[in-house]
Amino acid sequence: MRYSGLRVIQQGLTGNRGWKPVWRSPEPKPEYDIIIIGGGGHGLSTAFYLAKNHGLKNIAVLEKGYLGGGNVGRNTTIVRANYFLQGNSEFYSHSLKLWEGLEDELNYNIMHSQRGLINLFHSDGQRDAFVRRGNAMINQGDDAILLDREGVRAHLPYLDYEQTRFPIYGGLYHPRGGTARHDAVAWGYARGADARGVDLIQQCEVTGIDVQNGKVTGVQTTRGAIRAKKVAMITAGRSGQVAAMAGLRLPVESHVLQAFVTEGLKPVIDHVVSFGMGHFYISQSDKGGLVFGGDLDFHASYAQRGNLPMAEHVMEAGMTLMPMIGRAKVLRSWGGIMDMTPDGSPIIDKTPIEGLFIDCGWNYGGFKAVPASGWAMAHLMATGQPHETAAKFRLNRFATGHLLDEEGTGSQHNLH
Ligand SMILES: Cc1cc2nc3c(=O)[nH]c(=O)nc-3n(C[C@H](O)[C@H](O)[C@H](O)COP(=O)(O)OP(=O)(O)OC[C@H]3O[C@@H](n4cnc5c(N)ncnc54)[C@H](O)[C@@H]3O)c2cc1C
Repeated sequence: MRYSGLRVIQQGLTGNRGWKPVWRSPEPKPEYDIIIIGGGGHGLSTAFYLAKNHGLKNIAVLEKGYLGGGNVGRNTTIVRANYFLQGNSEFYSHSLKLWEGLEDELNYNIMHSQRGLINLFHSDGQRDAFVRRGNAMINQGDDAILLDREGVRAHLPYLDYEQTRFPIYGGLYHPRGGTARHDAVAWGYARGADARGVDLIQQCEVTGIDVQNGKVTGVQTTRGAIRAKKVAMITAGRSGQVAAMAGLRLPVESHVLQAFVTEGLKPVIDHVVSFGMGHFYISQSDKGGLVFGGDLDFHASYAQRGNLPMAEHVMEAGMTLMPMIGRAKVLRSWGGIMDMTPDGSPIIDKTPIEGLFIDCGWNYGGFKAVPASGWAMAHLMATGQPHETAAKFRLNRFATGHLLDEEGTGSQHNLH
């Protein structure tokens, strides 16, 4: 069924009885050409582009829970292309271009809102770093505007400009940055993949990966064994555990990242604001909730919930930046499991096992990567060659030393 404004009106006038389920619920077949483990944003977009860009059909996505129940439905929805290093910048630039056409491509309202992102800086040194980043973004063909303090004030009048601990020197403004409705992105890709013949199988946990003579032959699941010629592991925070099923040890640690939302308020924050020095960022959802978060919980964990000290840290940072936030009531908090690599950049690659592929290491920035990751992973699986925008996301870079350390914080998982 094609969606349109006219159809919404028609359905509204006829009791909304004509909407159909958005995807099928097929039983798993005994064999597929391609199995994707993980029905998050990256697994679903990979399935979609395998079918759409490469004409492949005999594909299953196996999801242990429900589609969109992982990090793709837990993030703070920020979409941006403001990377500095070659290797990252062309990839995220490609991703943002895909975002800009995604609603048309999926025929789905993902509520992509390019409301602009402002990264604040608070010292001369930080300004220099943002000037360099802004120039790199412009060289990549993306947009970046350096704002001085008054420039920031014109956009964000509600910040505390008098506080002395983190005086606001200015900000790097990325007008094409913004947000998108996170679970709608999962649903849109799921609907598009299903329409192209992909089997989306929920409540199907992969419990083993079958390998014979160095080649993958299928997977064991809670719904039986399924054979496959190619298997992709796209399980974000669980990547280390799933790869271990094939005897692989990944350079990934899993850490919890929390986020928070307040009660719905009238429109007050119309940008995404990032206060990196205080570990705090915020935007306002279309429902009116102030959505904000901070840093990792700083210890490795598979718990999908956060700890109170980090909640306190984030609230303190919010109060420092915009004291008005103290008037809002926090409605909910939650956590997701982040697959942190030592250099903070992702992995899209083959593994040493023939036919077994890996897409992981999205750290806490993988939502904005969903379109380009699926695009690049599908390209790699269909052609055997890395896509040009993801050519540096190699698994062996931690052995060769060709790191993509965007923040320059060194080889430590919880610092990126
Ligand atoms: C609080 C928070 C805020 C964030 N904010 C942002 C942001 O603003 N912008 C941004 O770009 N990124 C953000 N991120 C990061 C982003 O959400 C993740 O990097 C990204 O969603 C990870 O990829 P995914 O969508 O494929 O993961 P997931 O949705 O987690 O998908 C992986 C799937 O694999 C499934 N799975 C695991 N093991 C198995 C198994 N054995 N068998 C079958 N299935 C399995 C899981 O159930 C899950 O559904 C944030 C994350 C969190 C938690």
